[in-house]
Amino acid sequence: MQAIRVHQFGEPEVMKLETLPDPTPGPGEVLIRVKAAGVNPVDTYIRAGSYGKLPMPYTPGLDAAGTVEAAGVGVKVFKAGDRVYMSGTLTGAYAEKALCKVEQVHRLPDKVTFAQGAGMNVPYATAYRSLFQKAQAKGGEVVLVHGASGGVGVAAVQIARAAGLIVIGTAGSDRGLALVKEQGAHHVLDHRKPDYLAQVIGLSDGRGVDVVLEMLANVNLGKDLTIMAPGGRVVVIGSRGSVEVSPRELMVRDVTVLGMVLFNATPSETASIHAALVAGLENGTLRPVTGRELPLAEAPQAHKAVMEAGAYGKIVLIP
Ligand code: NAP
Repeated sequence: MQAIRVHQFGEPEVMKLETLPDPTPGPGEVLIRVKAAGVNPVDTYIRAGSYGKLPMPYTPGLDAAGTVEAAGVGVKVFKAGDRVYMSGTLTGAYAEKALCKVEQVHRLPDKVTFAQGAGMNVPYATAYRSLFQKAQAKGGEVVLVHGASGGVGVAAVQIARAAGLIVIGTAGSDRGLALVKEQGAHHVLDHRKPDYLAQVIGLSDGRGVDVVLEMLANVNLGKDLTIMAPGGRVVVIGSRGSVEVSPRELMVRDVTVLGMVLFNATPSETASIHAALVAGLENGTLRPVTGRELPLAEAPQAHKAVMEAGAYGKIVLIP
């Protein structure tokens, strides 16, 4: 099979397409023929070496969708040909085939494309965990999805809207703002404008927001704390540096700041997340948006694109 391989950390060009033997599924494992692989910002951090040591060489990618090629001994729930998406893999998603543990494999309904399925795992699981397992969001509350035009943001807007929250989403391009509105945000704001957060208080009937899902905390956390309702919760999902905050803003409204990394979810939390996500795909609540498809060999271009401004849903690689 063909797979992207990384032999040393570095710039996107360290990713090369190579030919490898097909993996064989062992007991409790499933081999997936990848039809589309999702590109996440975390893939670029890992490739650059910021996530620490990794056995080299490796194949990048945590997210993909495709069909079951073969199931190992003891796997009863999947058979060859089943449509599936994965939540992590043993061998890497940027490849024609990927080996998974059976618990990393989830059914993909017929009406969902493989490119959409490739956008499920990290973005939707992050959005779901942040909203419900971390912020304990409830219907009727106001959520600010601070960075709503990318993978996690689109997922969060769809999930929050379906759960009955009032959704305010931000983006930094006109195309992104239109996308966030189409995905169900009640209100959209442009995070390029200097005074955009001043409008949040008015949009939340003067109370402020109950929940912030923050994609760029190093830029926004200090400002987020000034627009919170009493008892508000900020979930820090993304951050690319440090930030100054005024602790007094936390105190006066009993605000909680919650850190969250998807990799810290326990196996039972992960199983619960994907049970909910599969149900959301089945009933049409969840509709992953694919902004761009690139051939597998263009993984370096995909890594550059995912870090650029002007996000529009997901970037996926097609083997
Ligand atoms: P993405 O698809 O690249 O989207 C990035 C989002 O951030 C876009 O909506 C972008 O908007 C927005 N953004 C840019 N400047 C902003 C600003 N000043 N204020 C608010 N938002 C701004 O990335 P993603 O997959 O959605 O992930 C978002 C972040 O969360 C990344 O940093 C990623 O590493 C992190 N993440 C963390 C976890 C975790 O487990 N903690 C899981 C998944 C992702 P425009 O491009 O329209 O300006």
